[in-house]
Amino acid sequence: MTYRGRFAPSPTGPLHFGSLVAAVGSYLYARQAGGEWLLRIEDLDSPREVPGSADSIIRTLDTLGFEWTGSILRQSSRRDAYEAATQRLLNNEQAFHCSCTRSELQAAQSSEVRLFDTDELRYPGWCRLGPRAPERKTAVRLFVTRGETAVTDLLQGRFTVDVSAEVGDFVIRRRDGLHAYQLAVVIDDAFQGITAVVRGADLLHSTPRQVILHRMLNLVVPDYAHLPVVTDANGIKLSKSAGAAAIDIDRPTGEVWRALEFLQQAPPPELRRAGLATLWEWAIKHWQPKRLNGQRQATIRVGREDGLI
Ligand SMILES: [Zn+2]
Repeated sequence: MTYRGRFAPSPTGPLHFGSLVAAVGSYLYARQAGGEWLLRIEDLDSPREVPGSADSIIRTLDTLGFEWTGSILRQSSRRDAYEAATQRLLNNEQAFHCSCTRSELQAAQSSEVRLFDTDELRYPGWCRLGPRAPERKTAVRLFVTRGETAVTDLLQGRFTVDVSAEVGDFVIRRRDGLHAYQLAVVIDDAFQGITAVVRGADLLHSTPRQVILHRMLNLVVPDYAHLPVVTDANGIKLSKSAGAAAIDIDRPTGEVWRALEFLQQAPPPELRRAGLATLWEWAIKHWQPKRLNGQRQATIRVGREDGLI
């Protein structure tokens, strides 16, 4: 089976260093395996989309020397596929309609359930036998059975979550009609034939939910490798919303070099001036992901002497 990796940014701003690290890591896994690397724009949540940022991300990746296979998949064009999967899960009684509002769920939360790193409120199962307020718009939730779901991550090792205890029956289609990220990512990874999902460790915790969905939809579960997340000096994840600086496309070699350094690949300093093609060739040949084993986050220094950040 051909290795197929992917990079799937959300168009909520220009490419920043945290996303670049995920792109470089997933790209090197794919290229070293002699496989393919695909691009997907996760533009499902249109209210959060920043106009022009999808094009800007694609241009930046191109300038940095990434080569992808085939056309770029946009989640905004995939709603029929997500809806077909939602209907299939409903028809198979693996999912149900829920009329509960966020404030109703919030009122029912006890403090201990907010310990988990998730923005989803734990669902107490109120509409499992039918929506409590059928006159309202409903969300669709997946029936989650009790017990732990395990993921064997190539970098993070065995990782388990009891999804029923932590989030319960999770949402696959929101009340406003938008399909949830968890569903879309599973459907698209299967559609694109992705064999390995390589991304930031901030998504490790939601991976068992995706594994549950893969199994319910009889899809092959891909391999997973979760890379360390880039944080600032205060341990806060670099993200577009936190105003992380965009990649400097006038210094492509320096930016890729810096991502390799973050990924513990120890690129020789002289390669910073060797040109992109030489740097990529070196990186693909010498990629050693095991150096990242068990590492879930790392800091980059801000304000370095070379002014790259
Ligand atoms: Zn409900």
